[in-house]
Amino acid sequence: MAYAYDTNNIFAKILRGEIPCNKLLETEHSLAFHDIRPQAPHHVLVIPKGPYVTFDHFALEASDAEKADFLTAIGKVCAALGVQPGEGGAGYRAISNAGNDGVQEVPHLHVHILGGRVLGRMLE
Ligand code: 5GP
Repeated sequence: MAYAYDTNNIFAKILRGEIPCNKLLETEHSLAFHDIRPQAPHHVLVIPKGPYVTFDHFALEASDAEKADFLTAIGKVCAALGVQPGEGGAGYRAISNAGNDGVQEVPHLHVHILGGRVLGRMLE
């Protein structure tokens, strides 16, 4: 299956420097920045720099280097926010919305890192 990537989506514009973002960290293949409409005291979006629409797209088509970089970036974001349970932090949630049923607003893969408050149960 071919994944169609819209090069005009907001996060592509952020990656091209056409729209500003509040950057937390940047690695060779990934970028992390604060969500413009935070849902928690900590709300950071981690995105790969490559043109991937969803988590499954990335999982199937990204290189091993991109995948390792992305996972490491997520870990570094958690460390930067100080939210890792077991390391003095109080925990966090990592989620990625995909497609219509996932209610994905921006069609460029992003993992939300939410923390800083008790987030409540997701699945009842
Ligand atoms: P989704 O619903 O696609 O999982 O989440 C998209 C997220 O991107 C939302 O939480 C929204 O607040 C955030 N967002 C949308 N546009 C911008 C923007 O221009 N800058 C930043 N930093 N976040 C954005």
